[in-house]
Amino acid sequence: MNQIYKQATMPSATLARYLSKGRYQYDEDGELEKRCSRCKEFLPADSEFFGAQKSNPDGLRGHCKYCDSERKRLAAEGQKQLLNGNQLGQLPIIKQIPIFSKGEHHAR
Ligand SMILES: [Zn+2]
Repeated sequence: MNQIYKQATMPSATLARYLSKGRYQYDEDGELEKRCSRCKEFLPADSEFFGAQKSNPDGLRGHCKYCDSERKRLAAEGQKQLLNGNQLGQLPIIKQIPIFSKGEHHAR
């Protein structure tokens, strides 16, 4: 056990709230587990399974690392497809539309 993972740490009131909401649970060994907000799996609440995020009350990301890497893969793939589409450049007008619709989308 050379690798030391950061455990979720938070005020007990916050933990109690998370437990009551089902975001956290204790497994049969009394180990704290966190539920991934994406795949809904309960995994040990430490940085081996969840990336660290200081802005979160428990110091861990909401998604497990599996979902995180899956999301990155999908995002990279989506960008690749977008690039390929732009490279085709058959209809120059189409290039302008995403800029407008993207801005509108973010404003809402
Ligand atoms: Zn997950």
